[in-house]
Amino acid sequence: MAEMCVKCGLPKEICVCDVLDKETNRRIKVYTEKKKFRKYMTVIEGFTGEELDKTAKELKHILACGGTHKNGTIELQGDHKDAVRKALLQLGYSEESIEMS
Ligand SMILES: [Zn+2]
Repeated sequence: MAEMCVKCGLPKEICVCDVLDKETNRRIKVYTEKKKFRKYMTVIEGFTGEELDKTAKELKHILACGGTHKNGTIELQGDHKDAVRKALLQLGYSEESIEMS
């Protein structure tokens, strides 16, 4: 017999409680940082593990810009705050979880 979720009573394979929890508690921070030579970096915080890799890749693809990611932080070259916000919504992250500063 399939393992059941204690929260919703559905089989674990189709239960989305973990995903919902993650969405509720998620805080994504988006801000820009001025680097040397007056270059801007857009910094996105709030991802870990595989999701960090995946999101960094998607954002670089959508925004067509270079960037790096490490230690839970994605850094994109240039000032892309508005575009990053739109891209995150496009990727399915909720408006409330995105904190612009
Ligand atoms: Zn559940």
